[in-house]
Amino acid sequence: MRFSPHKGPCGHSCCLRVENVSVKIGADRILQDMNLHVHCGEMVALIGPNGAGKSTFLKAILGQQEYEGIIAFSEPGKRSKKPRIGYVPQSPAFDPSDPVSVSDLFACCMSKRPAFLGLGKSMEDLVQECLERVHGEELIHKRVGTLSGGELQRVLLALALEPMPNILILDEPLSGVDIEGMTNLMDMLDEIRQTYDLSILMTTHDFSMLDRYADQVVLIDHGILIKGKPETVLNSEAFRTAFHLKGGRA
Ligand code: ADP
Ligand code: MG
Repeated sequence: MRFSPHKGPCGHSCCLRVENVSVKIGADRILQDMNLHVHCGEMVALIGPNGAGKSTFLKAILGQQEYEGIIAFSEPGKRSKKPRIGYVPQSPAFDPSDPVSVSDLFACCMSKRPAFLGLGKSMEDLVQECLERVHGEELIHKRVGTLSGGELQRVLLALALEPMPNILILDEPLSGVDIEGMTNLMDMLDEIRQTYDLSILMTTHDFSMLDRYADQVVLIDHGILIKGKPETVLNSEAFRTAFHLKGGRA
């Protein structure tokens, strides 16, 4: 089930502002004059061919890539600041024989104690709370290497939501996830954006999910070609040209 259009406590008025952002790597201009507003509670899908600059754009927002222009987060009545960002990277590979459990992973990421000493009671309670946000309480003692694609995404998502960010960024979260897992993950992201009133910016090649879940789709190829409602972008000439499609949408 998709949640109805959001209208969080901020009245939809806080926003990530990307203004005239360009990225140059060496002599190559990777991104040119990107302009985009992402409001809280909004789900925005970034699409584009391979090499279009999607991951580079996410890295610029994360502060991992130098850029020209402005990337700022504004809340009503407050000065612009750097947004608190939760990041779910493209699925890292874990070895199935690796003894690292989900709780070990949380201990490494969130606790100063060495992971082999265990979590401690208060940290274990926090990890349970984090996993509950993604309906993954039962995963706490599983080995990370044995998780399915969808389960691993949920664990990475739980890590990205502590502390609760203003904006959640996911790079191709649906790759390596089966069709049922995709719907489950998208339903969960939809619930999270609604419950916590945060914005979600994700890259994807799974266009079939966009009509149902995205508020805004942004098609890029070294700059923004078109942005708007899913049906507008997916039916556009720019979309057909970018993906070398003849006739109708994908
Ligand atoms: P996408 O995620 O859309 O597939 P990327 O953002 O990964 O595209 O890459 C966009 C372009 O930038 C590609 O041509 C890639 O080769 C180039 N690029 C990305 N990172 C670097 C880098 N660190 N050094 C040189 N070129 C890079
Ligand atoms: Mg990429």
